[in-house]
Amino acid sequence: MLALAACAGGSGGGEGDGGLIGVAMPTKSSERWIQDGKAVKEQLEEQGFKVDLQYAEDDIPTQVSQIENMITKGAEALIIASIDGTTLSEVLQQAADSDIPVIAYDRLIRDSENVDYYASFDNYLVGVQQATSVLNGLGLVDLDGEALPDAPKGPFNIELFAGSPDDNNATFFWNGAMDTLKPYLDDGTLVVASGQTGFEQAAILRWDGETAQSRMEDILTAKYSDGTKVNAVLSPYDGISRGIISALTDAGYTVGEGWPVISGQDAEIDSVKAINRGEQFATIFKDTRELATVAVDMATAVLNGEEPEVNNTKDYDNGVKVVPSYLLDPVIVVKDNITETLVDTGYWTEEEIAG
Ligand code: BGC
Repeated sequence: MLALAACAGGSGGGEGDGGLIGVAMPTKSSERWIQDGKAVKEQLEEQGFKVDLQYAEDDIPTQVSQIENMITKGAEALIIASIDGTTLSEVLQQAADSDIPVIAYDRLIRDSENVDYYASFDNYLVGVQQATSVLNGLGLVDLDGEALPDAPKGPFNIELFAGSPDDNNATFFWNGAMDTLKPYLDDGTLVVASGQTGFEQAAILRWDGETAQSRMEDILTAKYSDGTKVNAVLSPYDGISRGIISALTDAGYTVGEGWPVISGQDAEIDSVKAINRGEQFATIFKDTRELATVAVDMATAVLNGEEPEVNNTKDYDNGVKVVPSYLLDPVIVVKDNITETLVDTGYWTEEEIAG
């Protein structure tokens, strides 16, 4: 993977010609997209490009007009992390009419033939890892998913959260997680007391932490006010995990005394601290610097008239075509490997995590 860094953009000997690349990111309200935007911009500038980096604060019309603006300004390529993966068809047609290549960044853009490449992580594996981290926290498996000897029999009460239904990734995370949890749900080791086991019931629009907090509050009131305890919560994203943690704290749960195992995603700094405090059990680290390298490499290769490197040409059907993809590997982070995964790799400093 890291070899990509070496060949990013330079593979054809072609450095950026100073042309403009439009980079559309969904929101600054989540730290990961700030990291992504920064990394993509820096790497494109290193290649000699000018960059128009825009954030749309999770507002779909704003994102559409930002992309229209990039096209008007003469962008040579677009790198887009969509808000709602289904709402960009018209503006992407405008891009295609001007021969502007489009790279879908992290989130697949759906319902359009005008998506040239997709740079992301193995999103199904992210879901597998989220569920594995929950099972690990309950003492059932190791971090590779291998059953542990003398594992407790349960039953454990678990509640399930999914991401935004308009984000193609959310169903990949959900499917990976549910396939992993299924045997434990089937044999009664895990019990969903709320009965809310469907994606639609579990989904949190726009990945919003407050929405997750109120859903968790409702579940606690409806199903756990008789003293039954939640032992685990499958959460697809750190911001959702923080909402769940607030609901649990408000309901009187205390860390160290029957506090549930909670998963996450993105290794956001507040959540890494929460893992250190024992509030969140795990997160999934997706190195945004590596993702930026893949996307920049794709854009540069296309502009040089070359074929970008891809490693998946079957899993990401956007409803119109299978988009050729390069998928990176995510990593499970728990308290014990924070230093190895996040500090030693230079993603966060010791001070940032401690502060
Ligand atoms: C990304 C996740 C992120 C989520 C919420 C998804 O599309 O793949 O990394 O946690 O959006 O921002």
